[in-house]
Amino acid sequence: MDKLIYINGEWVGADLAKIVVRNPATGEAVGTVPRAGAEETRRAIEAAHEAFPSWSRLTAYERSAYLERFHDLIVDSADEIARVLTLEMGKPLKEALGEVMYAASFVKWFAEEGKRVYARGIPSHKAETRMLAIKQPVGVVAAITPWNFPAAMITRKLGPALAAGCTIIIKPAKQTPLTAIMLAELAEKAGIPKGVVNLVTGNAAEIGNEFMTNPMVRKVTFTGSTEIGKELIRQSADHVKNLSLELGGHAPIIVLDDADLEKAVRGAVASKFRNGGQTCICGNRIYVQEKVYDAFIAKFAEAVRKLKVGNGMDPGVDIGPIIDRDGYEKIDAHVKDAVRLGASCVLGGEGRAENGAYFYPPTILKDVRPGMLIMREETFGPVAPVQKFSADEEAARYANDTPYGLAAYVFTENYSRGIKLVEALDFGIIGWNDGLPSAAQAPFGGMKQSGIGREGGIEGIDAFLEVKYVSVGL
Ligand code: ADP
Repeated sequence: MDKLIYINGEWVGADLAKIVVRNPATGEAVGTVPRAGAEETRRAIEAAHEAFPSWSRLTAYERSAYLERFHDLIVDSADEIARVLTLEMGKPLKEALGEVMYAASFVKWFAEEGKRVYARGIPSHKAETRMLAIKQPVGVVAAITPWNFPAAMITRKLGPALAAGCTIIIKPAKQTPLTAIMLAELAEKAGIPKGVVNLVTGNAAEIGNEFMTNPMVRKVTFTGSTEIGKELIRQSADHVKNLSLELGGHAPIIVLDDADLEKAVRGAVASKFRNGGQTCICGNRIYVQEKVYDAFIAKFAEAVRKLKVGNGMDPGVDIGPIIDRDGYEKIDAHVKDAVRLGASCVLGGEGRAENGAYFYPPTILKDVRPGMLIMREETFGPVAPVQKFSADEEAARYANDTPYGLAAYVFTENYSRGIKLVEALDFGIIGWNDGLPSAAQAPFGGMKQSGIGREGGIEGIDAFLEVKYVSVGL
């Protein structure tokens, strides 16, 4: 599968060097994409800049019709996209299909939401003036996306950007450009005019630098590591670039002693092991109140033991490969550090590397303590460390003891304890008796070093709009 990049409605880049995309389950080549750099990125930005006036002047209803067509095409091609997504990213095919439908839901939601970008009339303090606050698209948007959700992280940005009237250049992760390119093909098929959607693959630092320094780019929206997010903040200073950042997380899962343990186990398994734990909102550490600590671990182990590891293309597989060697080594280091410092392995604990493919079994660690690496750094793997706590306040203190603030999970049947805990947690997303809180219609984003801004929901389109205040003298 040899694909090209998409600039100004044309597929180009055949003359560039290639990046080989590999299947993380087998190490085999899946396809190639061009290794573009600053020059191609500049052309893509110019195309988006040229397309902006006419796209932004369409009515919201006209833009919505394009997005509805785009949505329908994604749904019609869902099986095909999911296959490619699994081949290049590794997640089980059923999860890949779930992600494609989730990706489509952002296009649908924002196709509708674009029609509700309301202006506001403000009562004036002077009889001879009228005051208005109107909203307009920010302009050309650059979107940088990660490999763990190759489809959804694109539509969560592209959907609201296009609905708001912005044009866009997408730079997908080098591990998963093929899914992204399939989406761009469908955008073309939906008839979205040339230059409105552009896509470049290649040297991340060079492309990123062009995004950050080119004055035609008015907004950069990024999902990825906190480290690169901080670098983008630094780079954004010279041009005071409008930034939205969805960065790393270190989600606590808190199980209080009145929790319905069936629910808690179901939620913890869903949160922790979806995508093999390679999700920024997945539970990274579990705190269980002492009275139910042993019972929770027993039930949790019983459920986790059933999860099957393997090639995501094989039926019945629940956990695919780890994305690459770096990812694998980090997981391995976290587990070894915890065991060395006194944690014990209830399940798993030993990965395997074969022919350039890396697999890690679902692992449960107990008797974990706060100082361990796994309780501080994002693991991005199928490892669940469990720590005991006594009082509710203690749980909130442990949970908040992190520079991250993306997602947290609380399991309790008691509304009073639950609400107090929810209010005490410094996280942008809380799943209360729910391990899978993400949805197109809900605001997603983090506090502290987990990011700036929200995606999805009514907040998601605001990121692509400027407010313009107009004072009219009569
Ligand atoms: P991950 O650890 O998930 O791979 P990264 O932050 O490294 O997270 O990658 C997320 C996205 O950021 C990818 O598309 C990647 O290519 C891109 N990226 C990596 N380095 C840079 C950079 N210096 N400038 C801009 N984008 C970058």
